[in-house]
Amino acid sequence: APDAMPTHLRVILASPRGFCAGVERAIEIVERALEIYGPPVYVRHEIVHNKHVVETLRNQGAVFVEELTEVPDGAVTVFSAHGVPQAVVKEADRRALPVIDATCPLVSKVHREGQNLARKGREVIMIGHEGHPEVEGTRGQVPGGVHLVSQVEDVERLQIRDPDMVGYVTQTTLSVDDTKDVIEALKRRFPKIQGPDVKDICYATQNRQTAVRELASQVDLLLVVGARNSSNSNRLAEIGTTMGVPSYLIDDATMIEDAWFRGVSVVGVTAGASAPERLVRDLVARIDKVAPARAEQLQGIEEHMQFKLPRVLSDAMRERG
Ligand code: SF4
Repeated sequence: APDAMPTHLRVILASPRGFCAGVERAIEIVERALEIYGPPVYVRHEIVHNKHVVETLRNQGAVFVEELTEVPDGAVTVFSAHGVPQAVVKEADRRALPVIDATCPLVSKVHREGQNLARKGREVIMIGHEGHPEVEGTRGQVPGGVHLVSQVEDVERLQIRDPDMVGYVTQTTLSVDDTKDVIEALKRRFPKIQGPDVKDICYATQNRQTAVRELASQVDLLLVVGARNSSNSNRLAEIGTTMGVPSYLIDDATMIEDAWFRGVSVVGVTAGASAPERLVRDLVARIDKVAPARAEQLQGIEEHMQFKLPRVLSDAMRERG
């Protein structure tokens, strides 16, 4: 029967998948800060969008808060990889909090692009998702703020002072394909608009999307390890769905359901940029309990990106030897 439970499974892993350089750096910043200054270290917002990562760091003495008002005077404070608005930087300054900024350098780059456009007198449009902390951060880093658009339909609704004086930036973790469409719509409405094309979408997001597209063409079921609130992980599952493959975004192996495997012989697995590889290993082990599974990995783009730690940490580590 086509919908019978499989007697065995092939598992194909996407490559690249999982941690990006910005996430590795952000996690290392919290770990090093804990080593150097001792707990507690306060972290504004989830350092990266993954509850397993957050839980591990919490057990080591990190305290996660949403706002600086929850941070006691004098406490070492880390800003998450998603970046923060200027108002938060200023408030930390005013309170003389010892801050270590874990904002991904590729997010900071988007902030600078937005600031440069604003400095040239352009109104700044941001392509991104409402409510995401990266959007909140960029909105609050660009003088005058940003107009947010998420999809092509939003472009018509924009109210702009001077259509010749606009620019745009994008969130780093968007769908490359959808963003191209939005940029096209922006260019149609504002022929003189300036912006980075899709280059604000970071290398890790682009590479994971390329890899999952290749993977989805070969599988009957796609499992994406990543958090509900992880933008780049959602985009990976969307690509599978768009390609007609039943696709599920799961926090970890405990979330899979046997019924998903009816009639399936090849399972694709990938992971968002904030999901630890350990969760992928656990998932493959869990799939092997559904039916004996053989795992293999696709060839993909090799990544060599690495970001330096903030000076305060590398200096402190050098002093400690
Ligand atoms: Fe940086 Fe991209 Fe990773 Fe976000 S997904 S932390 S922008 S490298």
